[in-house]
Amino acid sequence: TTMSYSQERFIAELAVQRATLLTQKVFHEKAKGTLSKDDKSPVTIGDFGAQALIIQAIRKNFPQDEIVAEEEASSLRADKALSAEIWRFVKDIRLEDEESNNLLGGQLASEDAMLDTIDQGKSQGGGKGRIWALDPIDGTKGFLRGGQYAVCLGLIEDGDVKAGAIGCPNLPIDDSTALSAGIGADQTDGAGKGVLFSAIKGAGATSRPLTNGALAASKPISMRPVPDITQAVFCEGVEAGHSAQDDNAAVAKRLGITSPSVRLDSQAKYCSIARGAGDIYLRLPVKKDYREKIWDHAAGDLIVREAGGQVTDIYGKRLDFSKGRTLADNMGVVAAPKAIQDQVIDAVKVVLKL
Ligand code: AMP
Ligand code: MG
Repeated sequence: TTMSYSQERFIAELAVQRATLLTQKVFHEKAKGTLSKDDKSPVTIGDFGAQALIIQAIRKNFPQDEIVAEEEASSLRADKALSAEIWRFVKDIRLEDEESNNLLGGQLASEDAMLDTIDQGKSQGGGKGRIWALDPIDGTKGFLRGGQYAVCLGLIEDGDVKAGAIGCPNLPIDDSTALSAGIGADQTDGAGKGVLFSAIKGAGATSRPLTNGALAASKPISMRPVPDITQAVFCEGVEAGHSAQDDNAAVAKRLGITSPSVRLDSQAKYCSIARGAGDIYLRLPVKKDYREKIWDHAAGDLIVREAGGQVTDIYGKRLDFSKGRTLADNMGVVAAPKAIQDQVIDAVKVVLKL
């Protein structure tokens, strides 16, 4: 029923699974079409295609809901070749399970329908009603280099994240492999990769292997206990422009952590600590005026909190998803197991002189 959010989570996971399949096809066929957005970040065929597929699934199942998505189609309407290339992938994507395909709305009708669908993610967000936050490819740079990226979808109701799903096609399925192999290591092709994480508010977090068909069986996940904070593993982004790696390192040092950070792109960081492959995620701000985007955090915030973690900004304030398309009232992100998160925030405050 609607109140339990189980149907929302189910559709979110299935939609993310199908979209993830598209991103993998794009990568394997080396379909290299990219555009530079106004902020100079890259956007690929995979971003646009995944956004079209996920919005289609939301429109089909929850037609009243609003959507805040990262991409829009105006640049595509001016670039017919790129649009046609995206359509080539989108029109052929199907899960190897007819019932699942039908639940997501089957195939989109035309290239024009695809462009219109991409453009249905322009909600301004806010604190009232049901709003889906969608990042079709989070960590586009990781995607392009064959590293970590994530397909991320969260449902926010009245400002509160209620359900979320994240597809991480390049994370190892096995939680313990994740630790020994290094969660940031770029992985080569092969079996044993691809994880779908999800959570429902108040009902815990789960993971399951990504498949090409119906959803696989899930298992509960949780953060690992950290009896000695000096032994904690901390992770951060690869891009030095997205978080202050020197400040992150100073916080770790202040906590007595001597091992270096594990660097990986995208919300795979939230997922990794939620499954106990790493403990602390630091995203200390580089620029005072940058505001985090809700699609970069909604699903990850819920998955970590449902796995036993706490997620706040640098001041120790919970992320507030009711402020529009950005986290306008927050700065940076600090995620850690509940029992030690205060201690991490204290160190952040000292290092940043807050
Ligand atoms: P990550 O993979 O953790 O580096 O995060 C990727 C996300 O960082 C992208 O989706 C962008 O929305 C976001 N981003 C872009 N510029 C900045 C910035 N100056 N500070 C923080 N995040 C940013
Ligand atoms: Mg992103």
